[in-house]
Amino acid sequence: SRTYVVTGAASGIGKSTSELLTEQGHRVIGTDLRDAEIVADLSTASGREQLVEEVTRVSGGGVDAVLAVAGLATPNAATVAVNFYGTVATLEGLRPLLLRSPSPRAVAVSSMAALFPPDETLLNALLDGSETEAMARAAELEAGDAQRSSLIYGTAKRALSRWIRRQAPTAEWADASIPLNAVAPGVVYTPMTAYIMSDAAARSQVAAMVPMPLNGFFEPRGVATLLAWLTSEDNAHLCGQIIYIDGGSDAVLRGDTV
Ligand code: NAD
Repeated sequence: SRTYVVTGAASGIGKSTSELLTEQGHRVIGTDLRDAEIVADLSTASGREQLVEEVTRVSGGGVDAVLAVAGLATPNAATVAVNFYGTVATLEGLRPLLLRSPSPRAVAVSSMAALFPPDETLLNALLDGSETEAMARAAELEAGDAQRSSLIYGTAKRALSRWIRRQAPTAEWADASIPLNAVAPGVVYTPMTAYIMSDAAARSQVAAMVPMPLNGFFEPRGVATLLAWLTSEDNAHLCGQIIYIDGGSDAVLRGDTV
């Protein structure tokens, strides 16, 4: 049995993944804003530090896998704070605990929305600027019209996917024998997407933006099984992959870019 840390464990994909790993007989340390073994707010620097301190204490100083699932999809700056900085802080902060494992694994949850055209200013700030700059740009987009604020989510996820690709082959991850990858789901039935599912107009609008020819929108368990495999001992060679589990959105939207 292995010890897994799952952020966003109280709901949706994180909850489903925690349940699956528990069924498989593993120890899951769940963290979230509420209803979790460790309650920590990933939108703040102090919450991120608290997460690392508490996981270190509760785990006794070693974990086998980190699954950074927590995220927001609101069109505001908090989404950047959680989806990018919270995820990076989770992975970097818990990395020392993975070094104690004989087969450490790490995975983040990006999104097919990373394929949408980003706000270049925010993207550059996230990847090569300071957190202060990026959060200022996110606040500008949040204050703009609906079209501008809607760029926040996809841009934060694109930055996260790029961060994974940059980091995975480096000394910190690959040289330490830690496969670091991401999954990028299409539309999954969770509380995050409930507003889409309960409104026919929103549903057809999203369906037009997110082509999913293979089996359409789906349940979180579909993502959970992939996350469980990516963080299992069986996955020893995937490095920096962004795995689109999206019913074909990536294949349709990016077609020949392989
Ligand atoms: P969800 O809202 O059901 O679960 C997200 C969890 O993250 C919640 O329990 C929430 O409390 C937690 N969280 C939010 N802000 C936090 C914070 N500041 N600190 C700690 N925890 C926080 O949503 P979900 O659909 O399960 O989303 C999980 C991940 O999957 C997210 O990263 C999301 O962007 C991504 N994703 C979801 C879909 C989808 O269609 N549902 C598609 C692509 C990607």
